[in-house]
Amino acid sequence: MAPSPANRLDLDYRAVPARRVATRIVDVHAHVHNVPSVAALFAAAEAYGISKIVSMTPLDEVAAMRSDYRERLNFIAIPRWRRMANSAAFQKQWLADLEAFRTLGARRMKFWMAPPMRGQYGLTLHDPFFQPLIQEGLRLGYDFMVHVGDPSEWFAPGGRYADGQIFGTKHEQYPQLEHLLDTVAPRNVIAAHMGGSCEEPAFLQNLLDRHDNLFLDSSATKWVVRAIARQPEAVRAFMIRNQDRILFGSDLVVSADYDFEHYASRYWTHLMLWETAYRGESPIADPDAEDPPRLAGVDLPAAVLRKFYDTNAARLGL
Ligand SMILES: [Zn+2]
Repeated sequence: MAPSPANRLDLDYRAVPARRVATRIVDVHAHVHNVPSVAALFAAAEAYGISKIVSMTPLDEVAAMRSDYRERLNFIAIPRWRRMANSAAFQKQWLADLEAFRTLGARRMKFWMAPPMRGQYGLTLHDPFFQPLIQEGLRLGYDFMVHVGDPSEWFAPGGRYADGQIFGTKHEQYPQLEHLLDTVAPRNVIAAHMGGSCEEPAFLQNLLDRHDNLFLDSSATKWVVRAIARQPEAVRAFMIRNQDRILFGSDLVVSADYDFEHYASRYWTHLMLWETAYRGESPIADPDAEDPPRLAGVDLPAAVLRKFYDTNAARLGL
């Protein structure tokens, strides 16, 4: 039988490796949907000691998710992406949804600003389209999350964003993040997926040093795993230096196609990545990685792990 893309090493994900620290673990970045396999996500979370998941759940699924998993879920306000359009009608719906999400307890709102937002809709956070949304977010008391950038491989020749005229270069994605940071300060902004530049810790350091209200989450397992495998020492030093600014996240997406094995594979891999000095193959298939995909743990000190898993999230109200 061909190995599963979530378990190419045929591991037993129910045999959870020992945790290095006894602490609450908050997953600040996931996409929980109201499908039957959501129970398998929570089973994996429980097995791996994740006590709270902060989710980007569509508004019309929030009530059901809240009634089943109230203690274990927080929500981040998102728009109705499937109907995304650069239009007044979409903006108006988004504004209304911000208010509804706030009533349901959301304290943070998300802007997904990956290159297709520019390439397909002609939008960056500099666009007037976003001004009422940012202002309404501030009025309602929201903090922010942003997805900016995407893996560097995707901007390279042959990659999906190779046409810089349409999508901009990777570094050209960032002025919009700095614009948001300046506009909403002192409210905080979590830049998802290691700020979109796990490949370039020095570039991220420069942003962090210039913006006190910038935080990062560690989500996007394949992307972060392959970037760290190329320079584990540099990322370890970066994580320690910025130990008050980086939060744990998985970017798990709940889908009818996934099972316990899939969800657990991400939590297993993150455990090995942050808590151990593992050197070897990654259990998760990754078409953007070297073949075979490698995994290098950065073996963070216990005090850093406690901040990463728990106290930084608590400080940001998560
Ligand atoms: Zn995500």
